Amino acid sequence: MDTVADFKEIVEEIEAKGGEAFKRCFQCGLCDAVCPWNRLIDFSMRRLVRQAVFGMTDIESGDIWRCTTCGRCPQQCPRDVRQIDSGLSLRRVATEYDVFPDAVKPLRSISVHLTDEGNPMGEDREQRADWASGLDVRSFSEEMEVLYFPGCYLSYDPRMKKVARATAGILNRAGVNYGILGSRENCCGESIRKTGNEGLFRRLARENIKTFIDEGVKRIVVSSPHCYHTFKNEYPEFMVHFDVVHISQLISELIDQGRLALSGEFARKVTYHDPCYLGRHNGVYDQPRSILQGIAGLELIEMPESRGRSLCCGGGGGRIWVETAKGERFSDLRVRQAIDLGAKVLATACPYCISNFEDSRLALEDETALEIRDITEIVFEAIQKTDATG
Ligand code: SF4
Ligand code: SF4
Repeated sequence: MDTVADFKEIVEEIEAKGGEAFKRCFQCGLCDAVCPWNRLIDFSMRRLVRQAVFGMTDIESGDIWRCTTCGRCPQQCPRDVRQIDSGLSLRRVATEYDVFPDAVKPLRSISVHLTDEGNPMGEDREQRADWASGLDVRSFSEEMEVLYFPGCYLSYDPRMKKVARATAGILNRAGVNYGILGSRENCCGESIRKTGNEGLFRRLARENIKTFIDEGVKRIVVSSPHCYHTFKNEYPEFMVHFDVVHISQLISELIDQGRLALSGEFARKVTYHDPCYLGRHNGVYDQPRSILQGIAGLELIEMPESRGRSLCCGGGGGRIWVETAKGERFSDLRVRQAIDLGAKVLATACPYCISNFEDSRLALEDETALEIRDITEIVFEAIQKTDATG
């Protein structure tokens, strides 16, 4: 039977792993009011916090793994409980004791793949640059303007390789002097950190930082908001600062500088989904929209839950790697919102969002009802049309 001393020990362990802010909670429930889980299942951040405060957390249950770190509830919390950072303390305890309920068991093999090959899929490190074969994409060297860091999904996932290729096409069109690291690139580590595996995050981050410094990297352009977030906000914990831009910011900059013309057209009704780690976590809302609005024929329409209130796709916090049961997927709700709005294309700027939305699209009765596109694919398609006609 559990004793008061047992609970006290658990509270101390949670606090030692970063959960001190839990005790500031006064159970107002504002977090639960905005959490997307509440539209689908009985999950309560407020309850999770209360259990942690009293040392009654059940690390064998799936609840501590539910949060997608979408950032909605920390916006609401009047007591600065920092639900995401504090919640990670529970995952750190579970990771330390190697307790993974069935739903998140894949995290074990993900960690092995990241350790062995530097990517979560367990793909061959040496094939990391294969997406660029046949394209004019060079290996990075010090005198180049910018390093392009496509990240794991764009390097290996067949759907996402199209985004990497579109990005290279845009950079080439604008005459950007850029290169890639290929097999010297490692996963950025953002998502594995959110599963509580701090040691592996630090290892991946250190390896990337060493490579960036050895190669003379100063500016980095990324496709994934998760890479963007960790390079910009978390790598400085290692006393380094790189100039990091998301591809939507760089495209905007290239347009403003007159280096890239948004020629061609994309005559479709498009709605833009703000990825949590680009929008809410980093405040990048305007550049993706202004790029889309600058394309001839494109009609941009807004979903009611947009910008700071954007509905999470469900892929953050490491949940991109675990199976989410049918009927529990945020992406199904988001795809439905886009269709109900009358959009023909759901555009976004994150590999996790695209993967989840593509899965949800395939589950539709009519999978042609909506196209899922990265903004780079839309820009590149428009530019190519000019080539064909002009
Ligand atoms: S919003 Fe903050 S104070 Fe209110 S219940 Fe949630 S964690 Fe506690
Ligand atoms: S961060 Fe998002 S998913 Fe996590 S508990 Fe808060 S609202 Fe829910």
